[in-house]
Amino acid sequence: MPSFQTSPGTRDILPPDAARWREFNAIFADTVEAAGYGCIIPPIFEDAAVFHRIGEATDVVSKEMYDFQDKGGRHVSLRPEQTASVCRAYAQHRPTTPWKVWYTGPNFRYEKAQAGRYRQFDQVGIEALGVHDSALDVEVIALAWKFYQRLGLLNVQLFINSLGDDGDRERYVEALREYFLSHADALTPEARQTLDKNPLRVLDSKRQGDAEIIAGAPKITAFLSASASQHFEEVLEGLRVLDIPFTQNELLVRGLDYYRRTTFEFVSTALESAQNAVGGGGRYDGLVKDLGGPDTPGIGFALGLDRTLLACDAEGVFGAPKSSVDVFVVDVVDGTYALSVTSALHDAGYSADRAFDSRSMKAQMKSADRSGARFAIIIAQDEVASGSYTIRDMTSAQQQLVAKGDLVEFLTRNLGARTPRRHPS
Ligand code: AMP
Repeated sequence: MPSFQTSPGTRDILPPDAARWREFNAIFADTVEAAGYGCIIPPIFEDAAVFHRIGEATDVVSKEMYDFQDKGGRHVSLRPEQTASVCRAYAQHRPTTPWKVWYTGPNFRYEKAQAGRYRQFDQVGIEALGVHDSALDVEVIALAWKFYQRLGLLNVQLFINSLGDDGDRERYVEALREYFLSHADALTPEARQTLDKNPLRVLDSKRQGDAEIIAGAPKITAFLSASASQHFEEVLEGLRVLDIPFTQNELLVRGLDYYRRTTFEFVSTALESAQNAVGGGGRYDGLVKDLGGPDTPGIGFALGLDRTLLACDAEGVFGAPKSSVDVFVVDVVDGTYALSVTSALHDAGYSADRAFDSRSMKAQMKSADRSGARFAIIIAQDEVASGSYTIRDMTSAQQQLVAKGDLVEFLTRNLGARTPRRHPS
């Protein structure tokens, strides 16, 4: 028989790590719902053309898409990110603005798999459509910042830049093209190839050989229109008001082509520099129009869940929660008591586990210990005869007899009241 393994770049997230993921998503939801963002769940695959709007010259589109023809002959792709899907959803449903949404879930990119870089990876993110106001840029960045803080991360740095409006960006790209062409001999062959397609992308090169030429390249600031420049100043001022530290980085252009005006990236200094970007985002004022919708401004961010958790590991914060149950039922009669007592406790709102296969008292007590339960409920012939249970406090090892009918009252007193698990009638 073949022994199957996960595909390269994909992973099983086992307990208790999966509980950590859920907690991550819950804290994210709580952070952004406090600011009026509602949850959106776009499909995992879409018409591939939706994602082509990210930019034909980006690696994400030209090399990394998981696209294929479905059985109906449609060219579809697993989503490589969710901003394009959210903008497509906006163009399709035309909700009233401002439209503020958040999402979580997997994305797919055919990348070279390595630590911190996967082919299936999760992102949480927000998108806000229909507002030009720089105060929204500040709100969006501040929410990401707050979230990192809630996780306990201390070593995250915010880098920020403005890419200007359409015209600014085009003039800058032309100036960059001229500059890099005049220094083409000194660039690496990879950078020369990128230059042919998109001069802006050359700024992304992390190769040592390109660093010196990039350092002397023209800066975007000189190309910003008065209004883009003022907008950017307002964003920076808002960040100062909220005491959010930032570093301006004129080389920050980010991997996707749709960004206009504000762009930003969060970097963990606790991670190796090759994979240290834990999130990023920016304005994409032309994207909804590109997807067939009305001309609508937008801004958002996506934070990499997998990589942010690696940063948490590196900083020793936000560990996986300890899994445990409230109660472990030890039944050495015949197992039927364990069946009904655990079921009744589940309905009463408690968590309860049990042993199977008629194990010995000793083996069941061992399982009770491993389960992390606060109490073991022990049922043997004596207990059946007296209509009560022996309850062992697993921390103090003290035992007492509690009448069957008083069990829930005992747990309420010792563990707190729980909401019963019942269908609302
Ligand atoms: P992007 O959508 O490319 O702007 O990426 C936003 C964030 O998603 C990055 O900062 C990373 O944290 C994360 N990310 C992007 N690609 C991957 C990947 N292949 N594996 C793991 N995380 C990723």
